[in-house]
Parts: sequence; C-alpha cells; structure tokens
Amino acid sequence: MASSPVPPSTAHLALPFFDDAHRALARELLPWAAAQSVDERDDRAACRDWVKRLGQGGWLRYCVPASSGGALERLDSRALVLLRETLAFHSPLADFAFAMQGLGSGAITLAGSASQQSNYLGAVAGGDKIAAFALSEPDAGSDVGAMAMQAVSTSDGWRLTGEKTWISNGGIADFYCVFAKTDPNAGSRGITAFVVDANTAGLDTSAHIEVMAPHPLATLRFDGCTVPREAQLGELHGGFKLAMRTLDIFRASVAGAALGMARRALVEAVHHASHRRMFGQMLADFQLTQAKLGEMAALIDSAALLTYRAAWMRDDSEARGAPAAGDLTAAAAMAKMCATENASRVIDMALQMHGGLGVKVGTKVESLYRDIRSLRIYEGATEVQQLIIGKSVLRSQT
Ligand SMILES: Cc1cc2nc3c(=O)[nH]c(=O)nc-3n(C[C@H](O)[C@H](O)[C@H](O)COP(=O)(O)OP(=O)(O)OC[C@H]3O[C@@H](n4cnc5c(N)ncnc54)[C@H](O)[C@@H]3O)c2cc1C
Repeated sequence: MASSPVPPSTAHLALPFFDDAHRALARELLPWAAAQSVDERDDRAACRDWVKRLGQGGWLRYCVPASSGGALERLDSRALVLLRETLAFHSPLADFAFAMQGLGSGAITLAGSASQQSNYLGAVAGGDKIAAFALSEPDAGSDVGAMAMQAVSTSDGWRLTGEKTWISNGGIADFYCVFAKTDPNAGSRGITAFVVDANTAGLDTSAHIEVMAPHPLATLRFDGCTVPREAQLGELHGGFKLAMRTLDIFRASVAGAALGMARRALVEAVHHASHRRMFGQMLADFQLTQAKLGEMAALIDSAALLTYRAAWMRDDSEARGAPAAGDLTAAAAMAKMCATENASRVIDMALQMHGGLGVKVGTKVESLYRDIRSLRIYEGATEVQQLIIGKSVLRSQT
C-alpha cells in the first residue's frame, strides 16, 4: 500500500451530522491507519493480516454491538461510514477487511440466537474469526429471489445443497452466513439463513475467483452439507428480509468507502498537478486543471453530504426506536449510487491528470481506478439503487 503525500482533510467532521464521539473516532483512526504497512501482493494473506491488525487496534469492535464485545450499544452508521472512509483513503483492502467483518456477521447481530451471538460476534470483534455473507448465486445476483440453493430439513438438522458465488472472504472465512431456499415455491418468502462453519463436511470453498483489484473471492459448493438445527439463523422463511436488513445497514457505508477512495484521488491529483512542470509552468497553474479540480471537489462534497445524511437518518431513527421506513432505504440508495458513481468519475479525472503515470502499474491512481469499479456493482448495482429511489419518488408523490 502506498502512503498518501498529505493526510486527508478533516473539515467534514465539523458537519452537524456527527457527534463529538464520531469526531474523536475519526481523529484517532487517522494516525493509526497512516502508520500501517501491509504487503498487499497476496490479497488473501493481506486480508488476514488486516483483520488481525484491525482487531488488535480495537476497530472491529464497531462491527458488533456492545452486548457482544462491541464499542457502541448498537451498530452506528456514522461510525461505520467514517471508519470505512478513513480506511479506504489509505487502503481499499483494509476497508474491505473491516467491512466484511460487519457485513458477514450482521445477520447474527440482527437475528442470531444467544449462543450464535456468543460463539461468533466476540471473535469477529477481536479479529479472531473471519466472517462472510453468502447470498449471491450464478443465476441469482440482483434477482435474489431466484436463488436455487436448497436447505432440506432432516431428522436432526438441515442439509444444504447448491452453489454460492462472488463470496467475499470465500476460502479464508471461518464461517459463512448462508441464505437458502427452505420453500422452493415461495420465491423470496421461502428463504432461510444459516450459519455454516468453514470446516463443515460437504462445503468446498476452494474455487477462488480472481478480479481486477485485490479482493479475496470464491465460489462455494455445498454438496449435501449437513448442519445442526441450531445453525438456523433467524426465523424460518425470514431470510430474505434478514438479508435486506443487513444490507440496509451497510449500504451507506459502501458510500463511505467510495468517498475515501475519491478523497485520496483528489489528494493525488492536487499533489501531481502542483509538481508537474509543463509549458513553463505547473500543471496546476492551467485554468483547465483548476476547473477539473473544482469539479472533482464538488462531486466529492455532494456525495459526502448524501452519505452522511443517510447514516445520520438511520442512527436517528434507531435512537428513536422508529420502525425502518422507506425514506431511509431511499436515502441509503442515493448515497450508494452517487458516492460510487462520483468516485469513479473523480478517480478517472485524477488518472487523466497523471498522463502516462496514471496507467503505470504501481501508481496510486492506477490501483484506485481498479479498486472503485466493483463498488458500483456489489450490494445492489447502480441500476438497482435507481429503481429503489424511483419507486420511493413515485410513492411519495402519488
Ligand atoms: C467484488 C465483488 C464482491 C462481492 N461480494 C459478495 C459477497 O460477499 N456476498 C454475496 O452474496 N455477493 C457478493 N457479490 C455479488 C454481488 O452482490 C453481485 O455481483 C450483484 O448483486 C450483481 O449480481 P450479478 O453479478 O449476478 O449481476 P446481474 O444480477 O446479472 O446484473 C447485471 C447487471 O444488470 C444491471 N441490472 C440489474 N438489475 C437491473 C434492473 N432491474 N434493470 C436493468 N438493469 C439491471 C446492472 O447493471 C447489473 O450490474 C460480490 C460481487 C463483486 C463484484
């Protein structure tokens, strides 16, 4: 991981969306993140290393509630956003390792039994167990209800058969929160969640998938994989809702990660433009360059406001004990869509400003260009977010 030429700005911490505890958290994380040096050439080894460091640093305690060894009473969207933004600024892989501990254990936090919570959540917070969230299948990505994997009830438990793919932490996780059909004829109303330990007989996690940026991924094969009855997570046939509630918590934090990458690209662009001499002056002296930097800053700030708003809305609603409402989902969708799309544009502009260096393997903007791409696809592609927002607009105006 390459160190930043200058530390990130902390001006956004003054915004009224945050409490002093959030400001202190972000300020404490900054020097810690900047001081880490992880060899990321092997993404699996690096991810394990990051999870250990994040656990030892106490940062993974923000992925679980206080009742299970977490830092705060409940999962706090603003803390998650700030943590991911700061980590992604320094290393998108560090952000990924952090986020997956939360996403991979989120269903246990929301619906796990007391023994599931005590078996898994403390170990997730300490970085002693690596978590994964297994929802997608080869023929069921955006269309979750089309999943084919089945869980059949046996005399003493469940037998899982089928395939999951694009599973982050696949092959290095200690356990998987897996979603399977328990009523094949009921669409999304026939899905149940299970916790499956990685060493369970009948589970094969060896099919690694290589992608354009460091990101441990695998296809999981369940071949008559038998788990005890206590492995059921949450209500029978309640798996679709549980998966969506889990994703709802983390959607705004994907926007936080995109924001961190975009902020880093802007820092790199300013640094390069201020040091690159051409036609008798610096690249930064050209109005065309200043216009681009201005556009980049505005794209970042607009995404930041939507992201912090979505996180604040969710925390506020949780604090009031209000039932989850459609406006929260639409706000999180807007944040995810705008932050990931804007970050892609910002990073592309930063790369262009670097000229040939921008595409040279090893420069920060080159790796950011690859790192950002999958954020527009996973946890609901941009088109899925557009539909969520569009439906919400129609509901609110008719
Ligand atoms: C790096 C990475 C990590 C991932 N990690 C995980 C994980 O940990 N766990 C997990 O379960 N899954 C994971 N996924 C899977 C991810 O959630 C899916 O890739 C995503 O949901 C899209 O599904 P799909 O790839 O099958 O694309 P499809 O569903 O086939 O969609 C293809 C494209 O169609 C478009 N589209 C989608 N819906 C509509 C629509 N209604 N109208 C018009 N166009 C539409 C979008 O552009 C979309 O990209 C990961 C994926 C990636 C790339």
